[in-house]
Amino acid sequence: ERIDLRLVVEEVLERLEKIAQDRKVSFKVKPDNLTEVWVNADGHRIEQVMVNLIENAVKYNKEGGKVIIHFNEEKKHSVISVRDNGPGIPAEHLNRIFERFYRVEKSRSKERGGTGLGLAIVKHILNGHGSKIAVMSKPGKGTTFTFKLDKAEEV
Ligand code: ATP
Ligand code: MG
Repeated sequence: ERIDLRLVVEEVLERLEKIAQDRKVSFKVKPDNLTEVWVNADGHRIEQVMVNLIENAVKYNKEGGKVIIHFNEEKKHSVISVRDNGPGIPAEHLNRIFERFYRVEKSRSKERGGTGLGLAIVKHILNGHGSKIAVMSKPGKGTTFTFKLDKAEEV
């Protein structure tokens, strides 16, 4: 399926606008003049990926924080990253957050609600697309999740 990832992101941002406002978190898409990003992917499932990543970036951000969705073009792939400037994830937890039901620091995660399934689903869906998710995090600075999808042919 040929999908416009830029449009998917726009729809997800609209859907999450309310919870972002409640936490005074703002969204930014870069580059800001980008109109379309065509990839080969399952639109519904990739929407689920974007919802989970962006929802986390809002939920675990600080009040007044930022979420930046960045698109990068490679020859055959589009690279998408979701970055926040929240508290980050301690290094010793980084390789476990993709496990089902795993949540960092029970108390903080608990007050935010959730089951610990979001990132396991993200990993599973991207795996089904022959892709994988990478995470980089600096405590106190923020977290970035990155993945690639195959570019769609020009039509
Ligand atoms: P669910 O997504 O099922 O509602 P959840 O958000 O707790 O619940 P995941 O999305 O799988 O589950 O995330 C796992 C854990 O990783 C979270 O509980 C949180 O502790 C940590 N985490 C995920 N994203 C971030 C982020 N952007 N910044 C800081 N911590 C994060
Ligand atoms: Mg989540």
